[in-house]
Order: sequence, then structure tokens, then C-alpha cells
Amino acid sequence: MRIASVRQGVVPISSAIANAYIDFSKMTASVVAITVEDGAGKRATGYGFNSNGRYAQPGLLAERFIPRLEACTEGELTAADGSLDVAGAWAAMMRNEKPGGHGERSVAVGVLDMALWDAAAKLEDKPLWRLLADRFRDGEADESAWIYAAGGYYYPGKGVDALVEEMKRYLGLGYTTVKMKIGGAPGTPIRDALKEDLARIEAVLKLLDGDGSRLAVDVNGRFGLHAALAYGAAFEPLKLRWYEEPLDPLDYATHATLAEHYAPPLATGENLFSMQDARNLIRHGGLRPDRDILQFDPALSYGLVEYLRTLDMLARHGWSPRRCVPHGGHQFALNIAVGLGLGGNESYPEVFAPFGGFASDTPVVDGRIRMPEVPGIGFEAKNDLWAVLKDL
Ligand code: MG
Repeated sequence: MRIASVRQGVVPISSAIANAYIDFSKMTASVVAITVEDGAGKRATGYGFNSNGRYAQPGLLAERFIPRLEACTEGELTAADGSLDVAGAWAAMMRNEKPGGHGERSVAVGVLDMALWDAAAKLEDKPLWRLLADRFRDGEADESAWIYAAGGYYYPGKGVDALVEEMKRYLGLGYTTVKMKIGGAPGTPIRDALKEDLARIEAVLKLLDGDGSRLAVDVNGRFGLHAALAYGAAFEPLKLRWYEEPLDPLDYATHATLAEHYAPPLATGENLFSMQDARNLIRHGGLRPDRDILQFDPALSYGLVEYLRTLDMLARHGWSPRRCVPHGGHQFALNIAVGLGLGGNESYPEVFAPFGGFASDTPVVDGRIRMPEVPGIGFEAKNDLWAVLKDL
């Protein structure tokens, strides 16, 4: 097994939308293509990109991680059964990196990890979800994955009517559960912001026949404890699907306090980028394995090699993989959800194109999606994304 070539590029995923913390008008993504040869005449090219919410990492890729990957020996790249050893490549890429302070190197490594898994599955002529089920779950893959439509972003001039129209489009596409941003009115006193958000939430709930279990709300880490508790008290009777990232993602003690006072499901984790950070959340964040949702995004957090460590850590702490619903709305996490039996996956039907979304010919039916039988992650079956990746 050897790395024949690694190419990288930077592409915009700019959009006029904003959540409570950032606007996305200058957002970029790294894309990579890695060609691998297995030494027996077979070659495959795997593709990777970074998930939304973090910027492209061309410097880290060019200066450290691509040269280390290119310098991998055959032994480091070849597993005992002769397959591409992604974990071996991962270890080589992380050589001379100190522990802790993960920063955005986890994004750069995640891009390469995604491409390596795509190549590994292609070399075995299998979809990635099938490869994962075969390796880690005795061949048992889920038939489909639960997905929900994430949207409800703020953009200039968007009122409640436009929000409801957007959610109506998601239901029309086959989704049953939707998510909207809240807490985005900057500088507004809590009482006024809450009033405004409750009006937005009630309008969407009306569309959902008043069923709170079909609506999640996302704060993007903007609240302090006072606001989180005030919103939580107002949400409690609504029985929402979950209350997402109410607090700073690294403030575990405050999460624990909120969880003492807010009984319904909480969700967080999309901004924790390592198994160690995830473990700190589990140890100290007061989250409850019978109801809360963990949203670690494998693409942003060192890839699937690290995500497997995170799932192992969760099992040791009594958490089922079904509590995991990764952030990002990309095909990589969807393969992982189906292959490893997660609780589902996020989806962005209208934003973060072309990286968000799934294979072009796989419709959403009753809030679930099936996987195509395409070798690798399935990028070639997603027309808009393939148009970008094939140019690499
Ligand atoms: Mg979120």
C-alpha cells in the first residue's frame, strides 16, 4: 500500500445566513484528493472536505499533515489483512504533535482521514457504511438513518412567515423533524429576546401540529447560565426534541448546573474536537445517557479513527451509540451512522451546498434516508459535490 498523490484546494461555502454566533458569508472549506495504490495493481482516489463551521486549513495541511502522510511507509499504510490501514496513516500524521490544545489541526487531520476512509472502502469495492458494519458490527448495518432538517437561520429581513415557509419546505421534502436557530438577536435583553423566540417557536410548532418532539432549537453556545435557565423554564412545557448548545461548549460545570434544572433532552458536542474533550463533557457536563444527544462531528474532530475512540469511551461510560447524532449534515457522518448504529444524522437541505446533503437519488421518506450502494463514501452519487471534487 502506498500514497501515490495528495492534492488539496480551498473552496467557498459562503452563504448569507447567520446563527447566534457567526455569519457564514466568508466561510471556506478545504478539499483533498488522495490516490492510494495497493501494490497489486489496484488504485483508488478518496476525497475529503471539512465540515461547516470551521474554515479551510491549507497551511496546516501543506506544512505538516500532507508531508507526513506522503512520507508514510508501506508498513504504516498496510493492515494485517492487507487493507489500507487508516489508523496507521493517522498515527503517522500525528507524529510530533503534543497532546491537548487540539485547535484546528483536528480539522486538517479530519479532512485527510475522510479521504483515506473513502479510498479504503473503494479499494474493497464497498460502500463505507458496509465496510464499517463488517469490521465493527458483525456485518449488521441499519437499513436507513433518521435525519432531521437543520435550518431556521437568521438572515437580513427574514421574519416569522419566512421561517414557517422554510420549515414547510423541509416537511415537503420528507423530513418529519426540524431544527431552528434561537438566541440570535444581539444586544436584546433576555426577556425581549425570549419573547421574540417563543413567537418564532410557536409559529413553527403550529405547523408541526403542536408536537414539540418534532422540533429542536439551537443556541450555538451563546447563552450564559441565566439566559439558559430562563429559556429552559419557558421550553419545559413545550416538550421539545432537544435544546442544543445552550452554553459555551467547553463550560462543562455550567452544563451540569443546567442539567440539574432542565429535565428534557439537551444536545451538545459539535465544537468538541477530540476524544479527550468529549470525555470531559461526559465526566463533568452532567449529561444524562438516557435522554441527551451527543453531536461530535467526525469530520471536524480528527476523523473516524478518533471517532471510534470516542464511541469506545462512551461505551465505557454507559452511553449507547444511539445517543449520537453527529453535526455537519455530510455523507461521511451518514455512512458512520448507518454502519455503526448511531441515532441519526443532521441534514441541511438548503444551506452549506455542495458539502451538505446526501446522494442525489436517495429521497427522504418519513424522516429517514437509505444509503446508495456506491463504493466509498458516495460522493460520486452527489451531483453538485462531485462537480467540485472531480476538478481536484
Ligand atoms: Mg448546532
